[in-house]
Amino acid sequence: MSVDISIKNNLERIKSRIAAAEKKSGRPQGSVKLMAVSKFHPAEAVSQAFEAGQLLFGENRVQEASEKFPPLIAEAPEIEVHMIGQLQSNKVKKAVTFASCIQSVDRLELLQEIEKQCSKLNRSIKVLFEYHTGEDSKSGYTSEVELIKSLEECAEGSFPHIIPCGFMTMAPFTNDEKLIRKSFITLRELSEKLKPQFPDLPLTELSMGMSGDFEIAIEEGSSLVRVGTAIFGERDYTK
Ligand SMILES: *Cc1c(COP(=O)(O)O)cnc(C)c1O
Repeated sequence: MSVDISIKNNLERIKSRIAAAEKKSGRPQGSVKLMAVSKFHPAEAVSQAFEAGQLLFGENRVQEASEKFPPLIAEAPEIEVHMIGQLQSNKVKKAVTFASCIQSVDRLELLQEIEKQCSKLNRSIKVLFEYHTGEDSKSGYTSEVELIKSLEECAEGSFPHIIPCGFMTMAPFTNDEKLIRKSFITLRELSEKLKPQFPDLPLTELSMGMSGDFEIAIEEGSSLVRVGTAIFGERDYTK
């Protein structure tokens, strides 16, 4: 099967821009992971990215992801998909059957549901805590107190099937680089403040940066960038 030239080329271009941003900010080469966000793109596009060497994918909607990924993962178990969109509790049951991480945990109730469903399947799942840092984003914890409550429950051992791996945020949709940077700095500082309070939780991941702002995110400490449009092209929301 032939690899789609543009997806392959786009991945290569993004990877070299990531490497340049790592270098510019004095961070070790290869320290930033690249997630390919395949929402609204067909399974065929995911296969093409996989053939070009991409293993980590992100999806927003459980139904869409559950149609695309289980067949691909059955063929290639090294493929990982993370859920990155706002998640309703009634979608958790399905999500935990195929996702390796839920990056968009934004409330204690969601952790409780993830634990319940994972314990039924006797499987563990990684999670990130999404924190609201950008004015016009609607998702994520808006209260640090609530976030800390969730972390405390994790640290107390309430969720044996959940591995809390770090934090995620979305910058505001703006061209104002200062505002974007401020949002990434907010998440990094929050993470640096909370990590010592929860030394037994492996809170190493900082998931921040998308097609338009991933270089700024890397400069501010991102460990995982979520890139959709710059790899797969514009999304067709009418589908
Ligand atoms: C869609 C989406 C992305 C990717 O956005 P692009 O601008 O297409 O790179 C990243 N993160 C989240 C949470 C998203 O919903």
